[in-house]
Amino acid sequence: MIERLSVLYELQLIDDQLDELEELRGDLPSAVNELTSQIDTLQQQVEDKEAEKKKSLSKRKENDNEVDRLKTNLKKFKSQLYQVRNNKEYDALTKEIDHSEEQINKLDAESVALEDLIQKLKNEINELEPQIDTLQKDLKEKETELKQIIKANEREEAKLLDKREKVAVKVKKPDYNTYMRIRKALNGKAVVTINRSACSGCHNVVPPQRQIEIRQSKRIFSCESCGRILVSTEIADDVKKKLGL
Ligand SMILES: [Zn+2]
Repeated sequence: MIERLSVLYELQLIDDQLDELEELRGDLPSAVNELTSQIDTLQQQVEDKEAEKKKSLSKRKENDNEVDRLKTNLKKFKSQLYQVRNNKEYDALTKEIDHSEEQINKLDAESVALEDLIQKLKNEINELEPQIDTLQKDLKEKETELKQIIKANEREEAKLLDKREKVAVKVKKPDYNTYMRIRKALNGKAVVTINRSACSGCHNVVPPQRQIEIRQSKRIFSCESCGRILVSTEIADDVKKKLGL
């Protein structure tokens, strides 16, 4: 049982050191994620606007061609007016002329609106691009900083991970699962000692009788307040000594 408790505490001490390395990274990892997603969002907006701009440009081009065609027809109709032989032909031709002129006006108005839209999209894209540049610069700086921190502790981290692996295989599977569950729920600390008659995880007093039982290390005891696994100071000291802490 002492061995079972010892390996659990050893695992905790190694994880404590890994957590410390992680803490050196501060909020850099989350800042990098946040910036990346902000950049993605803005880039998507630029892409959407570019696509809309392209569509508007080609629609305007289409309108221009159609207006050219209608104007050619109009010229033809107008010249035909001099050659009409009766009222019926005259009416038919003026109808065509009116219709063509209406179409031309409609398309011209549409082109003006499209031109406005294109200009608006251009402005919006022009505003977004420097924002993206600034964020990318910021991201690059943060990534570099993070990489430096990771690189500076690379060897230490690798050593700790190696140690952790060796200790983890010695921990019974159900103990390991309990350990990881508490660790996740309680900010990394799953196995703690008793300090001045209190659980060093939550600082609530451990009843004297329980303290004696914990010192005997006959089974695994959990803190009644926070649920963390409690080990005796004797076990803790031995493990610390073994790890050279
Ligand atoms: Zn506690």
